[in-house]
Amino acid sequence: MEIPLKIIILFTSVIRVINTSVVINRFDDDDCELDAELVEEIASYENVTKRIMEEIRSNFGEVMYNEYTRFIDTFGARPSGTEVLERSIDHMINLTKHHGLNDVTTEELQVPHWVRVHESASMLQPHVKNIAILGFGSSVSTPPEGITAEAIVINSFDELDKTDKKTIEGKIVVFDAHYVTYGDTVVYRSQGASKAAKKGAIATLVRSITPFSIYSPHTGGQYYEKNVPKIPTAAITLEDADLMRRLQNAGDKIVLHIKMLSTSDTKTSRNTLVDLKGSVHPEKLVIVSGHIDSWDVGQGAMDDGGGMMISWFTPVILNILKLKPKRTVRAILWTAEEPGLIGAQAYLKKHMNDLDNINFIMESDEGTFKPLGLDVAGSKKARCIVKEVLKQFAPINKLTNSGYPGSDIVIFVHQGIPGASLLNENERYFWYHHSEGDTMNVQTMKDVVDCAAFWAAFSYVIADLSVDIPRQ
Ligand SMILES: [Zn+2]
Repeated sequence: MEIPLKIIILFTSVIRVINTSVVINRFDDDDCELDAELVEEIASYENVTKRIMEEIRSNFGEVMYNEYTRFIDTFGARPSGTEVLERSIDHMINLTKHHGLNDVTTEELQVPHWVRVHESASMLQPHVKNIAILGFGSSVSTPPEGITAEAIVINSFDELDKTDKKTIEGKIVVFDAHYVTYGDTVVYRSQGASKAAKKGAIATLVRSITPFSIYSPHTGGQYYEKNVPKIPTAAITLEDADLMRRLQNAGDKIVLHIKMLSTSDTKTSRNTLVDLKGSVHPEKLVIVSGHIDSWDVGQGAMDDGGGMMISWFTPVILNILKLKPKRTVRAILWTAEEPGLIGAQAYLKKHMNDLDNINFIMESDEGTFKPLGLDVAGSKKARCIVKEVLKQFAPINKLTNSGYPGSDIVIFVHQGIPGASLLNENERYFWYHHSEGDTMNVQTMKDVVDCAAFWAAFSYVIADLSVDIPRQ
């Protein structure tokens, strides 16, 4: 089944709500009744989970963190469709074998390759000033000479709807909605261009989707509606958006000049699958995942170098520790998540007939800061089993049930597969997200190693339990 891009955009719009301080927790903690035998079985894993965590924290974690740092500093940004992304995938394949696991395969797919060539903007009236911009992925170019036009600052789609078409025609719409949650605010990035184009706008600039800025524009995906003129669209800083709002409120006429050039085609990329084959049920899978691609700014260290690395490390370290669970632990390094979950969609389509074999699917794509627990999707019984397993990881035992765990795995969860994403202290995630600020400087070894220790030990228990995680 092909997931329409529009649905994906809506998904990615809402799923990030869990990154905010408002976590929806519909899980009733006091309401779990598991068989005494299963509770006892889960408790019996305590020694092995302690051992895995200890080995990673005191020994192998540093090796992993050094490999992670080296990976990020060697390849830097890894945008969909680029050669550097493919070389980074080759590197991870070689690294897997270097650390003793040979069961690594790739699955090819076609991915978007959008390249930012040149971007610049300036304010011409009421005074001359440089405006930092960062085009949104898939934005069209301006004409070669650029666009010079009056700007109108609009705060919401509601205000856009209420504004007369004549007032907007031929102008650059500046959306200055303030960050509430990622899910609430990202719609101006993902849908703003087409909505403004329907009213006759010739370009849109969007206040970056972040709660904090030191003059940093933040990029991201956007979607053009069918049969609506495609207009250039880019992020501006919080500072410039707020300046333009003040100027407009004071009655000043704002004139901007924008020049954007990009190219767009399609390339071949790969999802990477790293398997530690199960000892009893090799066909059954516990998947741990993160995406290896990134935007073209910063280093993609946080989004999603950290999540990709701790997921890759899970089967690798279990193999090193000679811990072979009953089910296969499969790390998937998704490609092309940023342009719209392209790698995950291809995997879902290719494996549609054996989805029943996916026992549990996990993703880390919201930061690898201090780990807190899991956001779990699945039946009540599934959540109760996870809750019971989490007890031995206290204080990493928080369990939420937002309904939208992660980004890539949401399309699997919607197929009824139970899954979880990593909860972590990521209050600052959107400070750096999709900007030049996403570098190794935002990570610390202790936090990433703690995430890796939890990720590997938890996966081991789920993959080794005598019972499958129930879908009902
Ligand atoms: Zn990501």
